[in-house]
Amino acid sequence: MNTLKIALQKSGRLSEKSLGILSECGIKLPDFKSKLKNTATNFPLEILFLRDDDIPKYVENGIVDIGIIGENEVLEQKRKVSVIRRLGFANCRLSLAVPKEAQYTGIQFFSQKKIATSYPNIVSDFLKKKQIEAQVVEISGSVEIAPSIGLADAVADLVSSGSTLLHNGLTEVEEILQSEAVMISNNTLQPEVAEILDALLFRIQAVLNSRENKYILLNAPNSAIKSITELLPGMKSPTILPLADSGWSSIHSVVKENEFWQIIDQLKKLGAEGILVIPIEKMVF
Ligand code: ATP
Ligand code: ZN
Repeated sequence: MNTLKIALQKSGRLSEKSLGILSECGIKLPDFKSKLKNTATNFPLEILFLRDDDIPKYVENGIVDIGIIGENEVLEQKRKVSVIRRLGFANCRLSLAVPKEAQYTGIQFFSQKKIATSYPNIVSDFLKKKQIEAQVVEISGSVEIAPSIGLADAVADLVSSGSTLLHNGLTEVEEILQSEAVMISNNTLQPEVAEILDALLFRIQAVLNSRENKYILLNAPNSAIKSITELLPGMKSPTILPLADSGWSSIHSVVKENEFWQIIDQLKKLGAEGILVIPIEKMVF
C-alpha cells in the first residue's frame, strides 16, 4: 500500500505544533513513539523526525515526500522543493540588529561591517539588493552573542518577541523577511502519493480555516435581523431561529476573530444581546 512520507523537526520550536496539526487532522500515532520514525495507525502516513536543517534536502531528493519547516530555512537553502501550504505558526522575522550603543542612522551603517548570521544567503542577497558591501560571517548557533565576544559588529537573526536580542544588548534595526512554518513538497510525487497528500491537505485546510473563524450566536429583536445579518455574512447566510419570546430571534453565524472586535459595538447598538463567540474545530467550505 502507498504511504505519504513526511519529515518533521525532531525537537525544537516546530516540533510540537507540527505534530499538533496532524493530531487536529485526526491522524493518530501509536502509543509507543519512536524518536526517529513513526507510522500513523489510521492514515497512510509515515513520519520521519529530523533536524530542521536537513528537511529541505530530504524532501528534494525524495527520501520523504513532504516536510514541515520554517520558511526562512527554505529560502536560505534554495533547494528544488515547492512550498504548498503556509501553516500559520512559528511566526518570526529575520532582522538585522546592532549593539544598542551603536549610532545607527540607516542601512549604510552596515557598509564594511562584519555581520554574523545563520542565514548567509538571505542576508547577502538582502545586502546586495540594498547595494551595501559588508562581510557576512556564518555561525550556526548563538548568533546573538557574536558582537559581545568581538566576532562581529552586528547580527542578522530570527526574532519573535525580541527579548533575546534585548538580553544581549542588541537593538533590532532592519527587518529582512517574515517567516512562518510551511509545508514543502517534493516536485515529482507519484500520483498515488499525490492523492494521499490531497486528502491530508483537505484536512489541514479545514483545521486552518477553523482557526481564523469563530462561531457566533446572539439574540436580537426581529426588527434588527436585517441590519445584523448584513454585518454577519457567515458562510452562506446566517441561521435565524425564533426565540420563545415573541419578537426575538437567535442568529447564528461565523465571523473572523478580528472582525468580531470591529463589529461588536455595532451589534450592541443594533440591540443584540447574549452574544456568544465559540471556537470552531473544523471548517469545510
Ligand atoms: P534543529 O536542532 O532541528 O536544527 P534549530 O535550533 O535549528 O533546531 P529552532 O530554534 O527549533 O531550530 O527553530 C526552528 C524554526 O522555528 C526556525 O527556523 C524558525 O522558522 C522558527 N522560529 C520561530 N520563532 C523563532 C525564534 N524566535 N528564534 C528562532 N527560530 C524561530
Ligand atoms: Zn536547525
